[in-house]
Amino acid sequence: MVVAIDGPAGAGKSTVARRLAQRIGAAYLNTGAMYRAVAWLAIRDGVDPNDVEAMATLAEAHEIELVPVEGGERVTVDRIDVTEATRAGDVTALVSTVAAHGAVRRVIVARQQAIIRRGDWVADGRDIGTAVAPNAEVKIFLTADPEVRAKRRFDELVAGGADVALGDILQQIATRDGLDMSRSESPLVVADGAHIVDTTDRPIDEVVDTIAELVGSARGGAG
Ligand code: C5P
Repeated sequence: MVVAIDGPAGAGKSTVARRLAQRIGAAYLNTGAMYRAVAWLAIRDGVDPNDVEAMATLAEAHEIELVPVEGGERVTVDRIDVTEATRAGDVTALVSTVAAHGAVRRVIVARQQAIIRRGDWVADGRDIGTAVAPNAEVKIFLTADPEVRAKRRFDELVAGGADVALGDILQQIATRDGLDMSRSESPLVVADGAHIVDTTDRPIDEVVDTIAELVGSARGGAG
């Protein structure tokens, strides 16, 4: 079974997806981490992020893995742990440009489809219900008011020791969402059959409960 969780930045996708996976005994696939790894490679190797062909070649040439560890997962590129680097501001600022290239998406989506082919998965991203797993048994579009999403991201960054301004984070999120929703290749949209779940005023646990119930119904319905 696949549970697809899509939505804009800061809606709580990864937290919800991780907890849900644990609850229902599924594995978790953080698809954004793979695009972040490609953006990280562009910076490391000095490849022009607007050069579609070069970026697709770069994505193809490197092994990107998500390694589950106690309490989370690590991102590796050619076996080098790049987890922290792929969450840094320079990668975040670049990733939506890189992820907009159809040729890059084709490489990454094929890998993601190979990963979720067997077993039970909760996958989060922007195109899970539309492109990676259009036949997912449960599809969720997780969203929240932009100010709340920015505040969550801000709190996360501050907790990690970053010196950032809330207004800047709000602006960055708006820019990234704008790029993700307006790209021609697999834009962020509500997938057919997706349940829209607004997390603005709802605690994470309650959101996880709601989705777990939908999973229970889908499993029951499948016999
Ligand atoms: O989920 P996260 O914020 O780490 O994703 C980083 C970026 O990767 C997104 O803003 C989007 O541009 C891209 N992405 C995507 N498709 C996915 C997951 C992420 O285009 N399935």
